[in-house]
Amino acid sequence: MSLRIVVTVKYVPDATGDRGFADDLTVDRDDVDGLLSELDEYAVEQALQISENSDDDVEITVLTVGPEDAKDALRKALSMGADKAIHVEDDDLHGTDAMGTSLVLAKAVEKAGYDLVISGMASTDGVMGVVPALVAERLGVPQVTLLSEVSVEDGTVRGRRDGDAASERLEASLPAVVSVTDQSGEARYPSFKGIMAAKKKPVQSWDLSDLDLDGDEVGLAGAYTAVESAQERPARTAGTVVKDEGEGGRQLAEFLAGQKFV
Ligand SMILES: Cc1cc2nc3c(=O)[nH]c(=O)nc-3n(C[C@H](O)[C@H](O)[C@H](O)COP(=O)(O)OP(=O)(O)OC[C@H]3O[C@@H](n4cnc5c(N)ncnc54)[C@H](O)[C@@H]3O)c2cc1C
Repeated sequence: MSLRIVVTVKYVPDATGDRGFADDLTVDRDDVDGLLSELDEYAVEQALQISENSDDDVEITVLTVGPEDAKDALRKALSMGADKAIHVEDDDLHGTDAMGTSLVLAKAVEKAGYDLVISGMASTDGVMGVVPALVAERLGVPQVTLLSEVSVEDGTVRGRRDGDAASERLEASLPAVVSVTDQSGEARYPSFKGIMAAKKKPVQSWDLSDLDLDGDEVGLAGAYTAVESAQERPARTAGTVVKDEGEGGRQLAEFLAGQKFV
């Protein structure tokens, strides 16, 4: 038996750098460094663990929709141990929203062939947490989201979803889409051997025509959502220092009450 896993990985602007909007109010992706979304490293890790614990022949493909530099995210996932990568890139993708992204991902997953799709719980830039559910709906397969534990056996994916009051055990027959949380297990660091091996692993590039999609189905033209305005966050002001000379507790309480924290 063989198991084909597709992991969706997003290339995101580095949160430690300055981020901003371009003139058309889309995220400025040209002037910032990017990296593989940290939350997607957990998805890659779970795919690798499923492979390591399986008697089946497991093939892990990592898939990204993003600009040229998004190849860096694919290389990182390949150096962690994924087998091959697919990069969907097209100028018409500029301004694509979550609906459009899910359309492109679903078409690419279908074209690649899959038994299981593994996604992160959310990206670290958009943070919508909706794409896995949208992809599952478009593919017409079950979705088991926000898992902190995941395993595959005999054509069934099983997992645990932890809530505030209870933990649920869930399962779905394959093909299916799952998303995993940051509680699913620390993602491994790529080894030197892994980094070297990644250079030789295949990276396929597809554009919209490869997926039978038209430019007006995605991009700003096809987006269901629009950013209407954005303001720069005001610069931080100096904090208030409470010096304790016997009245520190009272001053602290007054400050908190004044700010409506208590
Ligand atoms: C060139 C380009 C320009 C874009 N411009 C805009 C824009 O102007 N406005 C806008 O709203 N959106 C834009 N997007 C799409 C946006 O970046 C998000 O991919 C999309 O809105 C999904 O929202 P999210 O990141 O919050 O996803 P979430 O639902 O938080 O993501 C959950 C999971 O879905 C998967 N995933 C999400 N996005 C991708 C991806 N691109 N590739 C692979 N896996 C993915 C990951 O596994 C992720 O962990 C653009 C995308 C690209 C590639």
